Amino acid sequence: MKWIRVNMSDLSVKVEDVPKKYEQMGGRWLTSSIIADEVPATCHPLGPLNKVVIAPGILSGTTAPSSGRISVGTKSPLTGGIKEANAGAKFGQYLKRMGYSAIIIEGQPKNKQSRYLLNISKEKIELVGADEYKFMRLYELNEKLAAKYGKDVGIACVGPAAEHLLAGTGVAFNDVENRPARYAGRGGVGAAFASKGLKAIVVEAVTGQAAILNNELFEIGRKKLLAALQEHAVTKPKGALNTYGTAVLVNILNEAGALPTRNFSSGTFEGAKKISGEAMAEAAAKNPQAGMMGHRCHPGCVIGCSVVYPDAQGKSHTSVEYETLWAIGANCGIDDLDAIAQMNTLCNDIGLDTIEFGDAVAVAMEGGLLPFGDAKGAIALLEEVRKGSPLGKIIGSGCGTVGRVFGVRRVPAVKNQGMPAYEPRVIKGIGVTYITTPMGADHTAGYSIAPEILGVGGKFDPHTNEGKVKLSKDFQATTCFIDSTGCCVFTAFAILDIPSGFEGMVEACNAVTGANWTTGDAYEIGLNILKTEHQFNLSAGFTQNDDRPPEFMRLEPVPPHNMIWDMADSELDSIWK
Ligand code: SF4
Repeated sequence: MKWIRVNMSDLSVKVEDVPKKYEQMGGRWLTSSIIADEVPATCHPLGPLNKVVIAPGILSGTTAPSSGRISVGTKSPLTGGIKEANAGAKFGQYLKRMGYSAIIIEGQPKNKQSRYLLNISKEKIELVGADEYKFMRLYELNEKLAAKYGKDVGIACVGPAAEHLLAGTGVAFNDVENRPARYAGRGGVGAAFASKGLKAIVVEAVTGQAAILNNELFEIGRKKLLAALQEHAVTKPKGALNTYGTAVLVNILNEAGALPTRNFSSGTFEGAKKISGEAMAEAAAKNPQAGMMGHRCHPGCVIGCSVVYPDAQGKSHTSVEYETLWAIGANCGIDDLDAIAQMNTLCNDIGLDTIEFGDAVAVAMEGGLLPFGDAKGAIALLEEVRKGSPLGKIIGSGCGTVGRVFGVRRVPAVKNQGMPAYEPRVIKGIGVTYITTPMGADHTAGYSIAPEILGVGGKFDPHTNEGKVKLSKDFQATTCFIDSTGCCVFTAFAILDIPSGFEGMVEACNAVTGANWTTGDAYEIGLNILKTEHQFNLSAGFTQNDDRPPEFMRLEPVPPHNMIWDMADSELDSIWK
């Protein structure tokens, strides 16, 4: 395999052989390893010493089911620690089929006002001037790039919010219909990308399959993984994710008293039904021209959890997911589905992470900037972010910054990253994940919601602390491996309950890499990735005091269960022993 190294300081592009050490790596394993090896841990995330690594997973570009994830790694402008965020998109599939396992972007152009575009095709790779796209919104940009380079190209790009170098921004990838709606959203990876002077990367469409060393073994593994995904109630065709999207969780978490509401002041939201997956499915059924359940973020996903929501005017809004419905909805006290969908599309258009934006607005609401439930006011804030006004820059920098500016004590963040859509005082295992993951508060880093709420992969009482450190650690390690394969994290639902599915995933990886891993090896690989990331953070200056919940969660009981965060710090620290 080869990788592409782009030096933005001298505007050079090199294709290099992948060193032996990295040959079997993909996705998060590769991004975190390169960042740990090549980036000084104490460097400024927006400076020339930081790097951005974009890597498809081990299985990306093959016919393994739901394997089209692409990882973006960097030192995070939001947390100051290592970061990996991933999205499902054809971009990584094309890159891998072309024979590239990563793009490494380093340096910075002398002229900070200049913009560049990296164009990757089978014939050549070139950096070209892209000043004409500066501060352009992403729906317009994607249309222009598709018109110029071809409608099937893969695109990675950053919006105006990222060009303002705001820490709440992501990298957008185009979906199958060429909408910039698939986000590596968290941790300010968009600002790191934009700090390199890059506006976009375009990859030529490539059909066929990425290189496989053992086709027979690959078929065995692929079929086992596919069978598990098609059998499990959560991932199968017409299963929970396919029917209602991730938003199936709105009512479930609300009933569990764990849907953070009005800036984490309650665990239930009276407007939950209005913003639920069931409500979106009803709207999509009424207007199938503009709406669709079961949308797939990349070709080859067999789960199809995504939603295209049709608003009352018949306008389509793509990838309206549970986290967004919660962040901009319940967490801001907004129960207007059309307004949330509009904000989702606007966030995608300007390059903002919807979770960090929702957390930031909720903290601003608590700080008195606007009342809870004020959808119009929240929509207006997005225009401030796009323009880069002083208020917009504060909002776009995430909930930690907003809390400091507005004097709000209740800031739901760990390592300065806003919490996602599960109340950690009520669901202790996900709390351990938020607090200890090197990524900053992140549900996908170790999704213990599966056994704690959904009864998948075992059954754990969400309210108790017992066994939760081990549970979270096991989920975090396994997730590190899954994030390295290119498989969607939602494949975990099936492979947790159906062991042959996990075996199949590992066998398919062996077929591509020539390795001889067992599922036990996969866990160890994941654990080592986690330790590499943790060590990077320690080298960057983090201490065990960064593995702590926000103080208010220890002091304020959250209704309706009236629970606080009551796990001892020493128990949290035991995760690294
Ligand atoms: S399950 Fe959903 S998020 Fe995962 S790859 Fe498929 S469409 Fe994308």
